[in-house]
Amino acid sequence: MRVLIGGGSGFVGRELTRLLRDKGHEVTVISRQPGPGRITWGELESRGLPPCDGAVNLAGENVLNPLRWWNESYKKDLFSSRIDTTKTLSQAIAGSSSPPRSWVLVSGVACYKPSLTAEYTEDSAWMPFDLLSQLCKEWEAAAFLPESAAKSTKQVVIRAGAVLGQDGGAMKQMLLPFWLGLGGTLGSGRQPFPWIHVSDLAGIIARSLEPPVLSEAMPPTPQVYNGVAPTITTNYEFTKELGRILRRPTIFPVPEFIMSVLLGSERAVILTQGQKVIPMKTLESGYQFKYPDLTSALKQIVGS
Ligand code: NDP
Repeated sequence: MRVLIGGGSGFVGRELTRLLRDKGHEVTVISRQPGPGRITWGELESRGLPPCDGAVNLAGENVLNPLRWWNESYKKDLFSSRIDTTKTLSQAIAGSSSPPRSWVLVSGVACYKPSLTAEYTEDSAWMPFDLLSQLCKEWEAAAFLPESAAKSTKQVVIRAGAVLGQDGGAMKQMLLPFWLGLGGTLGSGRQPFPWIHVSDLAGIIARSLEPPVLSEAMPPTPQVYNGVAPTITTNYEFTKELGRILRRPTIFPVPEFIMSVLLGSERAVILTQGQKVIPMKTLESGYQFKYPDLTSALKQIVGS
């Protein structure tokens, strides 16, 4: 299979590329930078979709970029880096004379309203309630294919929780303070912390890329899968488990107002609040998690 991956140079994209190449598939990355095995977004727009059997979009400015202040220009980049790239790719698919059999967007669980009690499956209804959920709505809407294109291309949206792995994402920023014994709960610590190991997210994407069986009726709207581990974890449980595995104390809680001052209140909610997200459809699809629980995931990440 030939797979085109927007933002494939990033944390999740590198893992997905490894997995697909190990399975014998060919990968082309869409990037802002030209290079071997890559095309640029400009080339995609001007030349149209290169021949491919599956397409994925993983592009997006990092929401927790520690080097960027929470201001209008950053918010604009968060939106445009996701929505414009997704639109460019979905329009290229819709305009292609030989479209791919599958088209996968990875969005986020920020569409679900944070709650200590509510549980969300892929079937849960949701409406935008803040900036990040509005972002999810526009991002997912940008992936929709028109009816004519939806007949030949399977559409999938995977809503990912915090992606944990050695090579990037939240762990990269968290490990140093935890190693130094400065780790602690964020806010109350009672908030759910939906997470997934990067290897499982890549596995769910790879599975979603598999072409639909011929007899399968192609739904006109995307199939949604929650990209989270099946074990519900709170921030407190995550903090204590990471400290235990690293053999470091975790006695320095960070109050919510400090997080809001450091990150901006609209973005701090990613860490100080959370949702109980259930990967119901993901499990029903038969996907078997390599790292279904936090201990096995953290041991793999920190152990080596
Ligand atoms: P990365 O932060 O690693 O970024 C992925 C790629 O996006 C980069 O390699 C870069 O590619 C491209 N990119 C970055 N900034 C911009 C920009 N301003 N404009 C256009 N392209 C840009 O992302 P991850 O791999 O961690 O995540 C993949 C996707 O999954 C993202 O859309 C993310 O929002 C989503 N997600 C990630 C989570 C996580 O915890 N990591 C959680 C939930 C969702 P290049 O430089 O080659 O152009």
